[in-house]
Amino acid sequence: MNRRYRKTIIAGNWKMNKTPAEAKALIEEMKPLLSKTKWCEMVLCVPFTDIQAAVKAAKGSKIAIGAENMHFEKSGAFTGEISADMLKELGVKYVIIGHSERRQYFNETDEACGKKVQVALENGLRPILCVGESLTEREQDVTMEVIRKQIKIALQNVAVEDIKKVVIAYEPIWAIGTGKTATADQAQEVCAMIRHTIAEMYDEATAEAVRIQYGGSMNAGNAAELLSKPDIDGGLIGGAALKPDFGKIVNYNK
Ligand code: PEP
Repeated sequence: MNRRYRKTIIAGNWKMNKTPAEAKALIEEMKPLLSKTKWCEMVLCVPFTDIQAAVKAAKGSKIAIGAENMHFEKSGAFTGEISADMLKELGVKYVIIGHSERRQYFNETDEACGKKVQVALENGLRPILCVGESLTEREQDVTMEVIRKQIKIALQNVAVEDIKKVVIAYEPIWAIGTGKTATADQAQEVCAMIRHTIAEMYDEATAEAVRIQYGGSMNAGNAAELLSKPDIDGGLIGGAALKPDFGKIVNYNK
């Protein structure tokens, strides 16, 4: 399979921004900009409290709504947590798993990410699994080992028939929210290695079908170059997804 056959996926990550009223207003503003897009799938991952308003506002458009996290348990004494079936019932289609901010501030491990990926798939949600190295890891030249480990552990129990439903987001931590983007060649090198790792775990054809995003200060100005690379099938976008300008990234046509 060739890059052309994988549908591009541009996803926004709103993080802890926007009230439900603000979410509705922003989606209404974005909708006309996004409506003509045929070549890619669009996802907005929003705070839990915005999901209902976002699903309603996005109705009739090509925007799918995602969540930014979930718990791996179905229910029980987990104060403050949200389960996969709660998300599913609200109309959520995608869920970000293992964002570096969750790993850093909430001690999320690769093992916990693995459980979340499993449970998301069991509940019909498509996981966007985030992986990436810190600046120290890049400087110490261990980027590839770090990311291989994250992938191998988080996907260890995912069956071959399910892996194509997983989106992998390569997000170098040093590029998130910093304005420093990985060069298109740096991003391609890691995304190609991720595909190679999937081929080792499954097989070549399966790896060719899995979509891999780049994330880290991606915006309307640098998206075209990043998306021109053969193993970069989309973007996971933080800051630039909080403005209607997001439409410009989505409308970039390869
Ligand atoms: C992110 O939060 O996943 C992200 C990539 O953020 P930003 O685009 O702001 O760097």
